[in-house]
Amino acid sequence: MRALVKTRPGPGLEMIDVPEPTPGPREVKIRVLRAGLCGTDLHLHDWDPWAAETVRTPMILGHEFSGIVAEVGPDVTDVEVGQLVSGEGHIVCGRCRNCRAGRRHLCINTQGIGVNRDGAFAEHVVIPASNVWVQPEDFDPDLAAVFDPLGNATHTTLSFPLAGEDVVVTGAGPIGVMAVAIARHVGARYVAVTDLSGERLALARAAGADICVNPAEGDLRQAMRALGMREGFDIGLEMSGAPPAVASMIDHMNHGGRIAMLGLPKEPYPVDWGKVITHMITIKGIYGREMYDTWYAMSSMLSTSRALRDAVTSVITHRFPATEWQTAFDTARSGQCGKVVMDWS
Ligand code: NAD
Ligand code: ZN
Repeated sequence: MRALVKTRPGPGLEMIDVPEPTPGPREVKIRVLRAGLCGTDLHLHDWDPWAAETVRTPMILGHEFSGIVAEVGPDVTDVEVGQLVSGEGHIVCGRCRNCRAGRRHLCINTQGIGVNRDGAFAEHVVIPASNVWVQPEDFDPDLAAVFDPLGNATHTTLSFPLAGEDVVVTGAGPIGVMAVAIARHVGARYVAVTDLSGERLALARAAGADICVNPAEGDLRQAMRALGMREGFDIGLEMSGAPPAVASMIDHMNHGGRIAMLGLPKEPYPVDWGKVITHMITIKGIYGREMYDTWYAMSSMLSTSRALRDAVTSVITHRFPATEWQTAFDTARSGQCGKVVMDWS
Protein backbone atom coordinates (compact mmCIF):
# COMPACT_ATOMS: atom_id res chain seq x y z
CA MET A 1 0.00 0.00 0.00
CA ARG A 2 1.02 3.66 -0.37
CA ALA A 3 2.04 5.41 2.84
CA LEU A 4 3.62 8.70 3.88
CA VAL A 5 6.64 7.62 5.88
CA LYS A 6 9.39 9.19 7.94
CA THR A 7 11.93 6.75 6.54
CA ARG A 8 14.98 8.00 8.46
CA PRO A 9 15.86 10.61 11.11
CA GLY A 10 15.89 14.14 9.68
CA PRO A 11 13.54 16.54 7.89
CA GLY A 12 11.15 15.36 5.17
CA LEU A 13 8.79 12.50 4.38
CA GLU A 14 8.53 9.97 1.56
CA MET A 15 5.48 8.53 -0.15
CA ILE A 16 6.48 4.88 -0.60
CA ASP A 17 5.03 1.38 -0.92
CA VAL A 18 4.97 -0.57 2.34
CA PRO A 19 3.40 -3.92 3.29
CA GLU A 20 -0.26 -3.75 4.35
CA PRO A 21 -0.60 -4.08 8.13
CA THR A 22 -2.35 -7.12 9.64
CA PRO A 23 -4.64 -6.71 12.66
CA GLY A 24 -3.52 -8.70 15.71
CA PRO A 25 -5.81 -9.85 18.53
CA ARG A 26 -8.30 -7.11 19.52
CA GLU A 27 -7.10 -4.91 16.66
CA VAL A 28 -8.93 -3.50 13.65
CA LYS A 29 -7.67 -2.71 10.18
CA ILE A 30 -9.20 0.41 8.65
CA ARG A 31 -9.18 1.55 5.02
CA VAL A 32 -8.40 5.25 5.40
CA LEU A 33 -10.75 7.69 3.65
CA ARG A 34 -9.58 11.05 5.02
CA ALA A 35 -6.69 12.14 7.20
CA GLY A 36 -6.24 15.61 8.71
CA LEU A 37 -2.96 17.44 9.23
CA CYS A 38 -2.12 18.86 12.62
CA GLY A 39 0.79 20.82 14.07
CA THR A 40 2.30 17.57 15.35
CA ASP A 41 2.65 16.30 11.78
CA LEU A 42 4.49 19.50 10.81
CA HIS A 43 6.88 19.08 13.77
CA LEU A 44 7.49 15.47 12.74
CA HIS A 45 8.01 16.44 9.11
CA ASP A 46 10.48 19.19 10.08
CA TRP A 47 12.19 16.96 12.64
CA ASP A 48 12.45 19.44 15.51
CA PRO A 49 14.16 18.43 18.79
CA TRP A 50 10.90 17.00 20.16
CA ALA A 51 10.44 14.84 17.05
CA ALA A 52 14.06 13.64 17.15
CA GLU A 53 13.64 12.65 20.79
CA THR A 54 10.24 11.01 20.34
CA VAL A 55 10.09 9.13 17.04
CA ARG A 56 11.83 5.97 15.90
CA THR A 57 12.01 5.46 12.15
CA PRO A 58 10.60 4.15 9.91
CA MET A 59 7.24 5.54 11.00
CA ILE A 60 4.00 6.25 9.11
CA LEU A 61 2.61 9.58 10.39
CA GLY A 62 -1.01 10.67 10.83
CA HIS A 63 -3.46 10.44 13.71
CA GLU A 64 -6.57 12.38 12.61
CA PHE A 65 -8.57 10.17 10.29
CA SER A 66 -11.75 8.46 9.23
CA GLY A 67 -12.14 5.22 7.32
CA ILE A 68 -14.02 2.01 6.69
CA VAL A 69 -13.32 -1.12 8.73
CA ALA A 70 -11.62 -3.56 6.34
CA GLU A 71 -10.79 -6.44 8.67
CA VAL A 72 -11.06 -7.29 12.35
CA GLY A 73 -8.49 -9.34 14.25
CA PRO A 74 -9.23 -12.22 16.63
CA ASP A 75 -11.38 -11.44 19.67
CA VAL A 76 -12.95 -8.26 18.23
CA THR A 77 -16.64 -8.37 19.01
CA ASP A 78 -17.99 -4.84 18.82
CA VAL A 79 -16.66 -3.51 15.50
CA GLU A 80 -17.77 -4.81 12.11
CA VAL A 81 -16.31 -4.82 8.63
CA GLY A 82 -17.87 -2.02 6.54
CA GLN A 83 -18.52 0.41 9.38
CA LEU A 84 -17.43 4.06 9.04
CA VAL A 85 -15.17 4.87 11.97
CA SER A 86 -12.94 7.50 13.52
CA GLY A 87 -9.97 6.67 15.72
CA GLU A 88 -8.85 7.84 19.14
CA GLY A 89 -5.17 8.59 18.57
CA HIS A 90 -3.98 7.95 22.13
CA ILE A 91 -3.37 4.34 23.10
CA VAL A 92 -3.32 3.82 26.85
CA CYS A 93 -1.63 1.09 28.87
CA GLY A 94 -4.59 -0.16 30.89
CA ARG A 95 -2.28 -0.94 33.81
CA CYS A 96 -1.20 2.36 35.41
CA ARG A 97 -3.03 3.83 38.37
CA ASN A 98 -5.14 6.23 36.32
CA CYS A 99 -6.04 3.62 33.71
CA ARG A 100 -7.12 1.20 36.41
CA ALA A 101 -9.21 3.95 37.98
CA GLY A 102 -10.98 4.53 34.65
CA ARG A 103 -9.21 7.86 34.00
CA ARG A 104 -7.63 6.71 30.77
CA HIS A 105 -6.86 10.18 29.42
CA LEU A 106 -4.45 10.54 32.37
CA CYS A 107 -2.48 7.38 31.49
CA ILE A 108 1.24 7.88 32.18
CA ASN A 109 2.22 5.52 29.35
CA THR A 110 0.17 7.05 26.52
CA GLN A 111 1.37 6.08 23.02
CA GLY A 112 0.43 8.14 19.98
CA ILE A 113 -0.79 6.71 16.67
CA GLY A 114 1.37 8.21 13.94
CA VAL A 115 4.01 9.13 16.54
CA ASN A 116 4.96 5.99 18.47
CA ARG A 117 3.30 3.46 16.13
CA ASP A 118 2.31 3.52 12.48
CA GLY A 119 -0.44 6.03 11.69
CA ALA A 120 -3.10 6.93 9.18
CA PHE A 121 -1.25 8.73 6.37
CA ALA A 122 -1.61 5.47 4.45
CA GLU A 123 -4.17 3.40 2.62
CA HIS A 124 -4.68 1.29 5.74
CA VAL A 125 -4.07 1.70 9.46
CA VAL A 126 -4.35 -0.83 12.29
CA ILE A 127 -5.49 0.35 15.74
CA PRO A 128 -6.83 -1.38 18.86
CA ALA A 129 -10.57 -2.07 18.63
CA SER A 130 -10.98 -0.14 21.88
CA ASN A 131 -9.73 2.99 20.08
CA VAL A 132 -12.33 2.73 17.32
CA TRP A 133 -15.30 5.12 17.38
CA VAL A 134 -18.10 3.81 15.16
CA GLN A 135 -19.92 6.62 13.35
CA PRO A 136 -23.58 6.60 12.31
CA GLU A 137 -24.32 5.31 8.80
CA ASP A 138 -24.17 8.06 6.15
CA PHE A 139 -22.01 10.24 8.41
CA ASP A 140 -19.77 12.70 6.53
CA PRO A 141 -16.24 11.16 6.29
CA ASP A 142 -14.72 14.67 6.38
CA LEU A 143 -16.46 15.44 9.66
CA ALA A 144 -15.50 11.99 11.00
CA ALA A 145 -11.85 12.78 10.18
CA VAL A 146 -11.77 15.79 12.53
CA PHE A 147 -13.07 14.02 15.65
CA ASP A 148 -9.56 14.08 17.13
CA PRO A 149 -9.20 17.91 17.09
CA LEU A 150 -12.92 18.33 17.72
CA GLY A 151 -12.36 16.14 20.77
CA ASN A 152 -9.56 18.44 21.92
CA ALA A 153 -11.93 21.39 21.54
CA THR A 154 -14.75 19.54 23.30
CA HIS A 155 -12.57 18.36 26.19
CA THR A 156 -11.25 21.89 26.73
CA THR A 157 -14.55 23.72 26.29
CA LEU A 158 -16.55 21.38 28.55
CA SER A 159 -13.89 21.50 31.29
CA PHE A 160 -15.87 24.15 33.15
CA PRO A 161 -19.61 24.94 33.10
CA LEU A 162 -20.16 27.64 30.49
CA ALA A 163 -23.89 28.36 30.62
CA GLY A 164 -24.42 32.11 30.96
CA GLU A 165 -20.68 32.74 31.34
CA ASP A 166 -18.42 35.13 29.44
CA VAL A 167 -15.77 33.18 27.57
CA VAL A 168 -12.53 34.24 25.92
CA VAL A 169 -10.83 31.95 23.40
CA THR A 170 -7.21 32.82 22.55
CA GLY A 171 -6.20 31.38 19.15
CA ALA A 172 -8.65 30.82 16.28
CA GLY A 173 -6.89 27.87 14.66
CA PRO A 174 -9.10 24.91 13.77
CA ILE A 175 -9.43 23.89 17.42
CA GLY A 176 -10.14 27.42 18.65
CA VAL A 177 -12.90 27.87 16.06
CA MET A 178 -14.46 24.55 17.07
CA ALA A 179 -14.28 25.68 20.72
CA VAL A 180 -16.20 28.84 19.82
CA ALA A 181 -18.95 26.77 18.22
CA ILE A 182 -19.17 24.46 21.23
CA ALA A 183 -19.22 27.35 23.72
CA ARG A 184 -22.10 28.84 21.73
CA HIS A 185 -23.89 25.47 21.65
CA VAL A 186 -23.71 24.95 25.41
CA GLY A 187 -25.02 28.40 26.24
CA ALA A 188 -22.17 30.80 26.97
CA ARG A 189 -23.28 34.45 27.17
CA TYR A 190 -20.49 36.22 25.29
CA VAL A 191 -17.68 34.54 23.36
CA ALA A 192 -14.67 36.71 22.52
CA VAL A 193 -11.83 35.42 20.35
CA THR A 194 -8.31 36.61 19.68
CA ASP A 195 -6.00 35.72 16.79
CA LEU A 196 -3.36 37.48 14.72
CA SER A 197 -4.96 36.29 11.48
CA GLY A 198 -7.96 38.13 10.07
CA GLU A 199 -8.93 35.06 8.02
CA ARG A 200 -9.02 32.89 11.10
CA LEU A 201 -10.98 35.48 13.05
CA ALA A 202 -13.52 35.48 10.20
CA LEU A 203 -13.94 31.70 10.65
CA ALA A 204 -14.42 32.26 14.39
CA ARG A 205 -17.05 34.90 13.79
CA ALA A 206 -18.91 32.59 11.41
CA ALA A 207 -18.78 29.90 14.09
CA GLY A 208 -20.59 32.17 16.53
CA ALA A 209 -18.06 34.49 18.18
CA ASP A 210 -19.59 37.76 19.42
CA ILE A 211 -16.40 39.74 19.09
CA CYS A 212 -13.05 39.12 17.45
CA VAL A 213 -9.83 40.82 18.50
CA ASN A 214 -6.59 41.01 16.59
CA PRO A 215 -4.00 41.82 19.29
CA ALA A 216 -1.98 43.70 16.66
CA GLU A 217 -4.87 46.17 16.38
CA GLY A 218 -6.87 46.09 19.60
CA ASP A 219 -7.18 44.42 22.98
CA LEU A 220 -9.57 42.48 25.16
CA ARG A 221 -10.30 45.56 27.32
CA GLN A 222 -11.90 47.24 24.28
CA ALA A 223 -13.80 44.03 23.49
CA MET A 224 -15.15 43.90 27.05
CA ARG A 225 -16.28 47.52 26.80
CA ALA A 226 -17.97 46.85 23.46
CA LEU A 227 -19.85 43.93 25.02
CA GLY A 228 -20.81 45.94 28.11
CA MET A 229 -18.76 43.66 30.37
CA ARG A 230 -17.43 45.30 33.51
CA GLU A 231 -15.50 42.67 35.46
CA GLY A 232 -13.62 40.22 33.26
CA PHE A 233 -14.07 36.85 31.60
CA ASP A 234 -15.33 33.93 33.64
CA ILE A 235 -13.79 31.24 31.46
CA GLY A 236 -10.64 31.23 29.32
CA LEU A 237 -9.92 28.64 26.64
CA GLU A 238 -6.27 28.89 25.61
CA MET A 239 -5.88 27.55 22.06
CA SER A 240 -2.79 29.37 20.76
CA GLY A 241 0.23 28.22 22.75
CA ALA A 242 1.41 31.85 22.45
CA PRO A 243 2.80 33.41 25.67
CA PRO A 244 1.42 36.92 24.89
CA ALA A 245 -2.06 35.41 24.44
CA VAL A 246 -1.80 33.71 27.82
CA ALA A 247 -0.64 36.94 29.49
CA SER A 248 -3.53 38.86 27.97
CA MET A 249 -6.00 36.18 29.01
CA ILE A 250 -4.78 36.24 32.62
CA ASP A 251 -5.03 40.06 32.58
CA HIS A 252 -8.66 39.98 31.52
CA MET A 253 -10.10 37.20 33.69
CA ASN A 254 -12.55 37.99 36.46
CA HIS A 255 -11.45 37.08 39.99
CA GLY A 256 -12.08 33.37 40.41
CA GLY A 257 -11.94 32.89 36.64
CA ARG A 258 -11.13 29.47 35.24
CA ILE A 259 -8.75 28.72 32.38
CA ALA A 260 -8.43 25.49 30.39
CA MET A 261 -5.12 25.37 28.51
CA LEU A 262 -4.80 23.30 25.34
CA GLY A 263 -2.26 25.34 23.33
CA LEU A 264 1.26 23.95 23.50
CA PRO A 265 4.03 26.54 23.87
CA LYS A 266 7.30 26.05 21.98
CA GLU A 267 9.29 26.51 25.18
CA PRO A 268 8.86 27.48 28.84
CA TYR A 269 7.82 31.12 29.43
CA PRO A 270 7.19 33.45 32.36
CA VAL A 271 3.68 33.85 33.81
CA ASP A 272 2.41 36.61 36.13
CA TRP A 273 1.83 34.22 39.01
CA GLY A 274 1.07 37.14 41.37
CA LYS A 275 -2.02 37.87 39.30
CA VAL A 276 -3.02 34.21 39.08
CA ILE A 277 -2.76 33.93 42.87
CA THR A 278 -4.37 37.19 43.96
CA HIS A 279 -7.13 36.86 41.36
CA MET A 280 -7.60 33.24 42.47
CA ILE A 281 -7.56 31.92 38.94
CA THR A 282 -7.82 28.17 38.31
CA ILE A 283 -5.66 26.82 35.48
CA LYS A 284 -6.23 23.33 34.09
CA GLY A 285 -4.00 21.63 31.50
CA ILE A 286 -5.74 19.61 28.80
CA TYR A 287 -4.22 16.80 26.78
CA GLY A 288 -6.15 14.83 24.20
CA ARG A 289 -9.66 13.66 24.82
CA GLU A 290 -11.38 11.98 27.77
CA MET A 291 -11.84 8.33 26.87
CA TYR A 292 -14.56 8.16 26.01
CA ASP A 293 -16.73 10.80 27.66
CA THR A 294 -15.49 13.42 25.20
CA TRP A 295 -16.41 11.16 22.27
CA TYR A 296 -19.95 10.64 23.56
CA ALA A 297 -20.34 14.37 24.20
CA MET A 298 -19.19 15.49 20.75
CA SER A 299 -21.23 12.84 18.95
CA SER A 300 -24.35 13.80 20.90
CA MET A 301 -23.90 17.52 20.34
CA LEU A 302 -23.32 17.04 16.60
CA SER A 303 -26.32 14.73 16.29
CA THR A 304 -28.77 17.43 17.45
CA SER A 305 -27.22 20.63 16.18
CA ARG A 306 -27.07 21.51 12.52
CA ALA A 307 -25.35 24.80 13.50
CA LEU A 308 -22.58 22.93 15.28
CA ARG A 309 -22.14 20.46 12.41
CA ASP A 310 -21.92 23.36 9.95
CA ALA A 311 -19.46 25.28 12.12
CA VAL A 312 -17.18 22.27 12.58
CA THR A 313 -17.34 21.39 8.89
CA SER A 314 -16.52 25.02 7.98
CA VAL A 315 -13.19 24.59 9.74
CA ILE A 316 -12.09 22.23 6.93
CA THR A 317 -10.94 24.75 4.34
CA HIS A 318 -8.66 22.61 2.15
CA ARG A 319 -8.88 19.09 0.73
CA PHE A 320 -6.06 17.48 -1.30
CA PRO A 321 -5.62 14.03 -2.80
CA ALA A 322 -2.95 12.17 -0.81
CA THR A 323 -0.66 12.29 -3.84
CA GLU A 324 -0.50 16.08 -3.34
CA TRP A 325 0.69 15.69 0.24
CA GLN A 326 3.48 18.25 -0.19
CA THR A 327 0.98 20.95 -1.12
CA ALA A 328 -1.17 19.86 1.81
CA PHE A 329 1.77 20.26 4.22
CA ASP A 330 2.76 23.62 2.67
CA THR A 331 -0.81 24.87 3.01
CA ALA A 332 -1.05 23.77 6.65
CA ARG A 333 2.29 25.42 7.38
CA SER A 334 1.24 28.71 5.74
CA GLY A 335 -1.49 29.32 8.33
CA GLN A 336 -3.67 30.68 5.49
CA CYS A 337 -6.18 27.91 6.14
CA GLY A 338 -8.34 26.14 8.66
CA LYS A 339 -8.02 22.35 8.83
CA VAL A 340 -6.28 20.69 5.87
CA VAL A 341 -7.48 17.18 5.00
CA MET A 342 -5.92 14.61 2.65
CA ASP A 343 -8.11 12.22 0.69
CA TRP A 344 -6.70 8.66 0.82
CA SER A 345 -9.63 6.98 -0.86
P1 NAD B 1 -2.99 26.40 15.21
O1 NAD B 1 -1.52 26.56 15.32
O2 NAD B 1 -3.61 26.21 13.87
O3 NAD B 1 -3.72 27.62 15.92
C1 NAD B 1 -3.11 28.49 16.81
C2 NAD B 1 -3.60 29.89 16.52
O4 NAD B 1 -3.10 30.78 17.51
C3 NAD B 1 -3.15 30.43 15.16
O5 NAD B 1 -4.29 30.75 14.38
C4 NAD B 1 -2.33 31.65 15.53
O6 NAD B 1 -2.49 32.72 14.60
C5 NAD B 1 -2.91 32.01 16.89
N1 NAD B 1 -2.02 32.89 17.67
C6 NAD B 1 -0.67 32.99 17.65
N2 NAD B 1 -0.26 33.96 18.47
C7 NAD B 1 -1.36 34.50 19.02
C8 NAD B 1 -1.59 35.55 19.95
N3 NAD B 1 -0.58 36.24 20.47
N4 NAD B 1 -2.85 35.84 20.30
C9 NAD B 1 -3.88 35.14 19.78
N5 NAD B 1 -3.73 34.14 18.88
C10 NAD B 1 -2.49 33.82 18.52
O7 NAD B 1 -3.34 25.18 16.15
P2 NAD B 1 -4.64 24.26 16.36
O8 NAD B 1 -4.52 23.04 15.54
O9 NAD B 1 -5.90 25.05 16.30
O10 NAD B 1 -4.33 23.85 17.87
C11 NAD B 1 -4.41 24.83 18.89
C12 NAD B 1 -3.29 24.66 19.91
O11 NAD B 1 -3.49 23.45 20.62
C13 NAD B 1 -1.88 24.55 19.31
O12 NAD B 1 -0.98 25.20 20.20
C14 NAD B 1 -1.61 23.05 19.32
O13 NAD B 1 -0.23 22.77 19.42
C15 NAD B 1 -2.32 22.66 20.58
N6 NAD B 1 -2.78 21.27 20.65
C16 NAD B 1 -2.78 20.71 21.88
C17 NAD B 1 -3.29 19.44 22.06
C18 NAD B 1 -3.33 18.84 23.42
O14 NAD B 1 -3.72 17.69 23.54
N7 NAD B 1 -2.99 19.62 24.46
C19 NAD B 1 -3.78 18.72 20.96
C20 NAD B 1 -3.79 19.33 19.70
C21 NAD B 1 -3.30 20.62 19.56
ZN1 ZN C 1 -2.13 3.77 31.70
